[in-house]
Amino acid sequence: MPQSEETGRPARRPTATPPGRIAALAALPLFHKLDGRPVVVAGGTEGIAWKAELLAAAGARVRVFAPEPAEALVALSDAGTVALARRPWTPDDLRGAALAICDAGSEGEAAAFRCAARLAGVTVNIVDKPAYCDVQFGSIVNRSPLVIGISTDGAAPVFGQAVRARIEALLPEGFKRWAEAARSWRPAVQARELGFRARRVFWEAFTEKALREPDRAPTDADRDALFEALEQGRSGPGVGSVAFVGAGPGDPELVTLKAVRLLQSADVILYDDLVDPRILDLARREARRIGVGKRGHRASCAQDDIVAAMLAEAAKGARVVRLKGGDPAVFGRLGEEIAACRAAGLAYEVVPGITAAFGAAASLGLSLTHRRSARRLQFVTAHGQDGRLPEDLNWAALADPGATTVVYMGVRTMPALVARVLEAGLPGHTPAMVISSATTQAQSVLRSSVEGLPGLAGQLTEPGPSIIIIGPAAGEDGIA
Ligand code: SAH
Repeated sequence: MPQSEETGRPARRPTATPPGRIAALAALPLFHKLDGRPVVVAGGTEGIAWKAELLAAAGARVRVFAPEPAEALVALSDAGTVALARRPWTPDDLRGAALAICDAGSEGEAAAFRCAARLAGVTVNIVDKPAYCDVQFGSIVNRSPLVIGISTDGAAPVFGQAVRARIEALLPEGFKRWAEAARSWRPAVQARELGFRARRVFWEAFTEKALREPDRAPTDADRDALFEALEQGRSGPGVGSVAFVGAGPGDPELVTLKAVRLLQSADVILYDDLVDPRILDLARREARRIGVGKRGHRASCAQDDIVAAMLAEAAKGARVVRLKGGDPAVFGRLGEEIAACRAAGLAYEVVPGITAAFGAAASLGLSLTHRRSARRLQFVTAHGQDGRLPEDLNWAALADPGATTVVYMGVRTMPALVARVLEAGLPGHTPAMVISSATTQAQSVLRSSVEGLPGLAGQLTEPGPSIIIIGPAAGEDGIA
């Protein structure tokens, strides 16, 4: 073994690390270009009609052979989407085809079709007979020219469809337009004869824009701005933005698809104490998570510090998600935070969430309104700026026996609130309930009448957030 002259130890040459091994693949996804090419479809079922339509959508010239075609096939033929021959297929029909598909009526027909396809050198698919297939159809998410194919290699098609639904939900429809724009801008990018690095910077900046504003149609002005940024060396971290996102009451299944998408593209997440940790788990792994807890009567972050952190991160070019419990526009100081964004000239958006009242009502199977007994729905906070019961609540409205009142942040001031609403004329027997940690594993419910509410205080050992619901809707049958 050669020795290093300097150290006397075995010399070691710099060697590239071999690329990682690829785990076994049940099938190789290849994307089949069919534009203008002949494809043979044999069989007359509704199921095969869907495949014929799919093939035509991919640009194939589809010839269907079916002695007794289903209505859907006839309709496709009438519309000129496919050419229909009302007779059985013959081996000659397969010649020159790019692909041949058969919904075989029997094992014998499947074997014969495959044999004919092999002889004609044509790739074959037999519906529901994987053993005879060269290729299989997968589930598709279509944002063409962005196309996603999903296969479980026949192991679990239903599972595959569920995966498809998830991807479908995560990919905004607008991605289609951005992918189309990429295709039409590509020649202009090539014409600039940029080096590899500059091209890469361009497409990274493009991608960032697409991910950030998927719902907006890209324009030529976007393209020019990207080129200009490239020339001035400004591509790189873009301008920061803030998204105020509702995290819902707790159950992670109750967050919106938009919330998930923003969490998955966030650089920084500023989250409130009330946000369930399982919702933070939905965020992009690399996103920095900063707790800006603010809970009544506990050690809290000052609102000014939260706003300052939010603005500072966005100013550095970060995509900031300001994640708030429930709905951001309900008792969440959203107005102040939006005003700060406006003053700083920062782009922002608001994504609604399910507020505690709706989460609680749903989990208890409660209707918050009723056409006879509860025609008004009102949300109030019983926590004033000084932590006490606000004096200026509309007591007459709160004493309305035909209303459903949901009190947020009201546990501490409950006795004072109850005294005031009774004084204002609400009947003492009006149903009421206290719901804590609604929609989470720790959810608990205490039922009472309004006058009995203060007596519940001792039973409220649960440290989680609680709302109080007052009114007929809170009765056993919701219409008491
Ligand atoms: N924006 C939030 C409310 C923030 S104020 C929303 O729309 O729900 C905080 C108060 O909300 C808590 O004091 C409590 O009254 C209520 N709250 C929030 N989450 C709750 C939950 N899971 N169960 C019960 N009350 C909840």
